[in-house]
Amino acid sequence: MFNRTCLLVTRWTFAVLVKCIYLTSIPSTKTLTDSETDARVARICDLLVAHYGNTISDRNTPPIDELILTILSQNTNDRNSQRAFDSLKAKYDSWDMLLSAREEAVAQVIRSSGSYRLKAKRIKAALAEIKERVGRLDLSLLKNMDLQDATKWLTSIYGVGPKTAAIVLLFSFGKPTLPVDTHVWRVSKRLGLVSESTSREAAQKKLEAVVPTGCVYSMNHNLVTHGRQVCKAQRPLCERCFLSSLCDWFLSRRLV
Ligand code: SF4
Repeated sequence: MFNRTCLLVTRWTFAVLVKCIYLTSIPSTKTLTDSETDARVARICDLLVAHYGNTISDRNTPPIDELILTILSQNTNDRNSQRAFDSLKAKYDSWDMLLSAREEAVAQVIRSSGSYRLKAKRIKAALAEIKERVGRLDLSLLKNMDLQDATKWLTSIYGVGPKTAAIVLLFSFGKPTLPVDTHVWRVSKRLGLVSESTSREAAQKKLEAVVPTGCVYSMNHNLVTHGRQVCKAQRPLCERCFLSSLCDWFLSRRLV
């Protein structure tokens, strides 16, 4: 009995030792130098492009349209938000007409987007604020601002958070910003590009700092695609993931 216990303890100690040695050899962003982090991000970007393509923005949506569409997309799927947006376009000949309409009437038009009263309030408040500041419903002044000033300008509008501002600035102005939706957030944390406790807002800043400008748009698009198709929230398909050798989450669980 004593010998058996000794054998089990020895085996357990050996297993823990092997695991410790293995884990300390795993490349992790926590211990990487700046240049190693840059190399790792560049490699991830290249692999994503190789698998999903080097997509560049073809949306080129007018900024006010993008702003309204993004507000409609909060906490719902693309289909519902697009349906609500199309209903607004069909109902109002111009965004000035929407601005003049009653809030409740706007809310009824966008029912399919969910939280429609709150969204109607945000859309009308944003348009009113833009009109008051600029004199018309036009966001072209953001084109010549640097990313920081443009983000500050947009996020000072009621109902416009960092993600909404980043979407407008990326898709309407091609600025090098990286909106962090639920997929980008989850995959970035698992890969170790941002730490587990990082908020979405902080993740956006961190990613913008480490992702090369030329890779920002494809990175955003490809992380969303990867999150939807492979790195799923509940059951990530690690066994067929081409990023597994660079993924903190996968490497740290391989021996568990
Ligand atoms: S290895 Fe797994 S956890 Fe890591 S990115 Fe791929 S699917 Fe996600």
